[in-house]
Amino acid sequence: MPEFQTSPGMRDVLPPESARWRRFVRTFDETVSAAGYGQVVPPLLEDIGVFHRVGEATDVVTKEMYDFVDKGERHVALRPEQTASVCRAFVQHRPATPWKVWYAGPNFRYEKPQRGRYRQFDQVGIEVLGPDDPFLDVEVIALGWRFFQMLGLRQVTLTVNSLGEPADRTAFVAALRDHFETNIERLSPESRVTLAKNPLRVLDSKRPADSDVIASAPRIADFHSETARSSFATVLDGLRALDIPFVVNERLVRGLDYYRFTTFEYVGGTLDSAQNALGGGGRYDGLVEDLGGPATPGVGFAIGLDRTLLACDDEGVFAAREQGVDVFVVDTTGGLHALTITDQLRAAGISADRAFENRSMKSQMKAADRSGATVAVIIGSDEAAAGTAVVRPLRDGGEQTSVPRSELTTTLRKVLS
Ligand code: AMP
Repeated sequence: MPEFQTSPGMRDVLPPESARWRRFVRTFDETVSAAGYGQVVPPLLEDIGVFHRVGEATDVVTKEMYDFVDKGERHVALRPEQTASVCRAFVQHRPATPWKVWYAGPNFRYEKPQRGRYRQFDQVGIEVLGPDDPFLDVEVIALGWRFFQMLGLRQVTLTVNSLGEPADRTAFVAALRDHFETNIERLSPESRVTLAKNPLRVLDSKRPADSDVIASAPRIADFHSETARSSFATVLDGLRALDIPFVVNERLVRGLDYYRFTTFEYVGGTLDSAQNALGGGGRYDGLVEDLGGPATPGVGFAIGLDRTLLACDDEGVFAAREQGVDVFVVDTTGGLHALTITDQLRAAGISADRAFENRSMKSQMKAADRSGATVAVIIGSDEAAAGTAVVRPLRDGGEQTSVPRSELTTTLRKVLS
């Protein structure tokens, strides 16, 4: 065992998996750029206050943050999520609204590591600040849905709910507290602790002991104001108009405290139930204000990269691909020709690799095969003397040809096209 290994819940991402990660982000970029979203790159580290504003009653903020005091005596934290950072950036820079942005990158949460749950995990997401329009909620939900389709995932279920206006939510939380306190002896010890902090979160409990009390709990829909009711109906109508299937889940409250109106989750069909949320989001009117900005409605989602790729593995889609080069240069004369030819090809936009250590012809040809290249360019002493190169197709059995060095790039372009 080597002395140093990755810390618990942290992983190295090696090729070809790392290329799959890039393709994941590129696919996301293409999906949301086509809808007018621009990328925002917030720092990994923020003043801890930014995250405290988000939810002081959530485990993410109270128990799981990687926080420390830096050399300038500032209390900072590695971001556990990026919505708060995006809103902090909005307040700091005051861009024109609607501000439509996307992000991609790692977050940190000190959780118990298991399949689909890590201490460093990546998310892609979008946020829109400004418009207060349920059709925007539909756009946001639909973009996440389209992204899963682009990946090829078929077993994703969209669940939606509305937490209503802040006053609806407050009345609902009070009724929930009453209900759970009346039935406290039937709740699991864990849920009793949660109840003291935030009764909404008790609804998240998947412990069998809690299921009866949760089933008989008050329902959020009974607390919806007229505005909340009509906004939710518009969202559902919009989803129907786009033929996006959904399930209304009245228990969907989501972990963070800042949600209002629409909340939603994309649930994977193949993962363990504790880790089957591929992503989720909702409307969070109020967060920008909490961070010191003007009252600004917001809506967005975050999708977990690690977990979504596990779902892709389970469904056999969006597989990692071995990356090859176009050309492998074999040089048995010492290696200087391989140096100049690979450089010339790369400059011309043809990917090229070579062997080192002046190996034998046989060993270099083996390396050419392993490289996945389509064509080998071979330089022996005859070719070196004549100023030519042999072009040998490696895959589909075409004839090899000898070409002047000055025509090599043109010939290769033809062979590769
Ligand atoms: P959240 O920010 O908690 O709403 O999470 C959004 C998505 O991020 C989840 O649906 C997961 O896909 C992913 N996620 C959250 N926490 C973790 C974690 N510890 N490890 C891996 N993925 C995570």
